[in-house]
Amino acid sequence: MSTPFLSVRDLRVHFSTEDGVVKAVDGLSFDVQKGRTLGIVGESGSGKSVTNLAILGLHDREHTTIEGEIELEGKELLAASERELEHLRGNKMSMIFQDALASLSPYHTVGRQISEAYRKHTGASKKEARARAVEMLRRVGIPQPDMRVDDYPHQFSGGMRQRAMIAMALVCDPELLIADEPTTALDVTVQAQIMDLLKDLQQETGTSIIFITHDLGVIADIADDVLVMYGGRCVESGTKQEVLRTPEHPYTWGLLGSMPSLDSPVDVPLVPIPGTPPSLLNPPTGCCFHPRCTYTDSVPGERCTTVVPPLELENGRGAACHLDDGQRARFSADLAGSRPH
Ligand code: SF4
Repeated sequence: MSTPFLSVRDLRVHFSTEDGVVKAVDGLSFDVQKGRTLGIVGESGSGKSVTNLAILGLHDREHTTIEGEIELEGKELLAASERELEHLRGNKMSMIFQDALASLSPYHTVGRQISEAYRKHTGASKKEARARAVEMLRRVGIPQPDMRVDDYPHQFSGGMRQRAMIAMALVCDPELLIADEPTTALDVTVQAQIMDLLKDLQQETGTSIIFITHDLGVIADIADDVLVMYGGRCVESGTKQEVLRTPEHPYTWGLLGSMPSLDSPVDVPLVPIPGTPPSLLNPPTGCCFHPRCTYTDSVPGERCTTVVPPLELENGRGAACHLDDGQRARFSADLAGSRPH
């Protein structure tokens, strides 16, 4: 495989709190290839968003300790100054958040916010930047962009605001786009339109995307590669086909079992994963998933509760679990047989 566009190695993001150290991300490694979409999936508190704030250098520096390596085209970001990061954010990488209303200023027109972002990073004139804002609004499918450019965010619908935020994130043609649950607050139709828009823009520009979600259905739609996070670690990774067709980790099996399918018969019940996500202040010993796992009896001795399972990857594929290959294949096949397709 070619040199990755983004490479993250042994990333640890820890917060100091009054109650102790929260290990929000604890030894995470992954790559994002040029022009591909990495889907990061997991429940809230699994470390997905924290990872991406660290990549962008937007974490709270006062209370956060970060270790490891984050390289963007060979440039080490953790050693970069705030000024360098500011330059990279916008030019090389940008982010779309879940809540467009909170991310857009209510006091300025949509067009001004897009054009200011453009001017800041390119030094373009006001006239050029306005023309660029209109062009971006057209690209993201806002009707009558030359008129709507002068609207305020509250005059846009939720779906249009999300499009406007995508326009703002893409105005400087970033090479890495981080989308953090960008469609969660939207209805299913608008969600599908936004996903199509991101796919089209990626085809046009070759942007690499990190798409963060709690929803494997969204991953199935948009991702090329998948990273499943649990308790601040990667528990499974592979291509979308590998992870969705032959999942190897009990947590991924649980996520798939709790996911509705369009063609499921109505009488097939969804099975939620029992229990709650782990405390990152006092994480469980051994495998972080063991309090919720129904396969611990299949592993000899007390290994699930005492030994952290390593993640050994072969060509980016693997799962962190003590079950042996034969057991994983058997359990995975049994579950696939019981799941509606
Ligand atoms: Fe379950 Fe043990 Fe595998 Fe963890 S290591 S996922 S507890 S079987």
